[in-house]
Amino acid sequence: MTLAAEAYIAGKHRALEASETRFAHALRGANDGIWDWDLDNDELYVSDRWANMLGRTPDQVEPSAAGWLALVHPDDLEDFQRAVARHLAGKTPTIMHEYRILCRDGGYLRVLLRGVLESVAGRRRLAGSQSDISQRFQVQEQLEFAARHDALTGLINRAQLNQVLQETAQRMMREGARSAALLFIDLDRFKLINDSLGHAAGDRVLVHVARRLQACLRPGDHLARFGGDEFIMILDDLACPEDAEVVAARVLSRLREPLQFGERSLVVSASIGLTPLRAGGALDDALQAADMALYSAKEAGKARYKSYTDDMQIRVRQRLRLESTLLQALEQRQFELHYQPVFDMRLPSSAAPVAVEALLRWRHEGKPVAPVDFIPILEESGEIVPVGYWVLETACSQTAVWHAQGHTDLLCSVNLSGLQLLESDFVERVRAILQRTGMPPEQLVLEITESLLIDHSGNTLVALRELATMGIQIALDDFGTGYCSLGYLNRFPLHIIKLDRGFLHDAHASDAHMTICKAIIGLSAGLKLKVIAEGIERLEQVDLLLQEQCHYGQGYLFSRPLPAEALTALIEHTKIAQGARHEDQ
Ligand code: C2E
Ligand code: MG
Ligand code: MG
Repeated sequence: MTLAAEAYIAGKHRALEASETRFAHALRGANDGIWDWDLDNDELYVSDRWANMLGRTPDQVEPSAAGWLALVHPDDLEDFQRAVARHLAGKTPTIMHEYRILCRDGGYLRVLLRGVLESVAGRRRLAGSQSDISQRFQVQEQLEFAARHDALTGLINRAQLNQVLQETAQRMMREGARSAALLFIDLDRFKLINDSLGHAAGDRVLVHVARRLQACLRPGDHLARFGGDEFIMILDDLACPEDAEVVAARVLSRLREPLQFGERSLVVSASIGLTPLRAGGALDDALQAADMALYSAKEAGKARYKSYTDDMQIRVRQRLRLESTLLQALEQRQFELHYQPVFDMRLPSSAAPVAVEALLRWRHEGKPVAPVDFIPILEESGEIVPVGYWVLETACSQTAVWHAQGHTDLLCSVNLSGLQLLESDFVERVRAILQRTGMPPEQLVLEITESLLIDHSGNTLVALRELATMGIQIALDDFGTGYCSLGYLNRFPLHIIKLDRGFLHDAHASDAHMTICKAIIGLSAGLKLKVIAEGIERLEQVDLLLQEQCHYGQGYLFSRPLPAEALTALIEHTKIAQGARHEDQ
């Protein structure tokens, strides 16, 4: 019996030892510090790990509540004491509290305290664990930072900007608050930088720009990257609203200084829309107003700032109305083509035109809208692609009719937008249109612009080469107005250069324009390209062009662009005149 009892006790003892070992092992594994505070005697026990976390040993921690509190970060002390008191008062089932605690080296460690109150044999004890959460906290902080900042520039992002705007709006409600303003900054022609120098260079430009913008800020101002190449600046505490314009002017001039990339230097410019921030005003309204002002700065020629005015709203509404009706114009057959004849200026004025240029016309609410006003809208929406196919098909059918009427040599020119050439099946569709309409490819001219050559993607070049191989002629429109490098003239399959009407217009008055006209004609002859002069309005311009060996021209002097029927009458007339001339001989 005694033996059995001893065996039983020994067994229990072993079980207890095993359980304690398991407990100690689990504690080491959990890597948490353990603490136990006897409230009635104010005795604190801390485990080795608890103290080691702080670079201390347990005997270097004063074993009382005061000893512990002395280590709590002063800013966290009040919350710490409140969390313990709430638990002791029975308001929380356990303590779960994050705070910072002083380490031996003077730094602070972020820890999570857990604990629970127990009453054992009438004595109250608070015990629990303490874990090092500094790493988790760091990761969390990084994540929070990433959620509020832009990865490339390190500036605050859109989400954080909303927060800042809210705070500013609140501050402005206070009595005596000074003015604040919002600047919407957008880089000009950034797409061109990205496309021509690559995205890595584009990113570097954005980082440099962010730094320059930051250098224009005063303490209390904010700068956010709003997206792509758009930045928002919040100027707070301005003495008067006009001060925002001074800052905008400073930003423009800082940005104008060339950026140095190794050997290469690059000049970027920006457009800015600015609006005052009104106390209690809705945030979206401020952004919208600045955006409208920005739009108006871009429209006025870029590289400038504009302050918001109420009439901008009216103009934007008008444009929106125009846009929405324009998008239905194709379906509702509101487009029409006019044709402007191109003449060989060496022939008598009665001679038939050698070519026509098809020009798109749109009437809105009974009034004609200028192509320069509606074509950019079609391009922005991508609608120029279906409209462009309609133009091509209509122009080819009409020209085929003129061919059938006996004007077999007549060429037809059609203007292309860059977007059309990006369509992967563009060449196939052109081929199909030629087949459907019976238009010989050799008599079709497609006009492209310089910007299309600069902004080109690989597909553009391939498509142009295929079109040229089919026999179609490619003309470079408005030559001299863009930033085309002469090197492009060789790389692209070009047959014709159209001398922009701007140069010709001023040639008699400006030596520089005269020189440019002569140079373009000479250059084209050297490259074996035909030149067509645009916008001829006076006889002396014809003399000048003929002197320089430029033989083809179009302009109001000869004929305005005409509806198809009027052009039919014109060519019938010239044919008769020509016929009469033959008869005369
Ligand atoms: P563009 O291709 O350079 O067309 C020539 C422009 O000069 C036409 O303006 C024409 O009416 C105008 N013009 C002709 N002779 C004279 C003249 O003696 N004096 C003056 N001051 N102007 C003259 P329009 O029709 O307003 O077209 C403007 C631009 O719109 C065109 O310039 C072209 O870039 C674009 N465009 C027109 N139709 C189309 C189209 O179907 N598709 C595309 N993508 N663009 C088009
Ligand atoms: Mg043209
Ligand atoms: Mg032109």
